[in-house]
Amino acid sequence: VLTCREVTERASEYLDGDLPFGRRLAFRLHLMMCRHCRRYVDQLAGTIALVRAAGRQATDPGTADRIVTALERSRAEARPSE
Ligand SMILES: [Zn+2]
Repeated sequence: VLTCREVTERASEYLDGDLPFGRRLAFRLHLMMCRHCRRYVDQLAGTIALVRAAGRQATDPGTADRIVTALERSRAEARPSE
């Protein structure tokens, strides 16, 4: 069984499809049961979409800063409370 810490640490691998089948399954099961991690993964997915969109455009200097700020905020908000 995955812990919340493992889920948050591996969320980007999960979203990239880098996890083997068994891990993905465990991940999905955890997300079904854990509202907290579901929110974290949702926010991370949004951040990754932002990064990819920014990467396609010519970079303006503030973009990287905004992405880092958004990522840090989502991590802070989604940190498991238990
Ligand atoms: Zn969790």
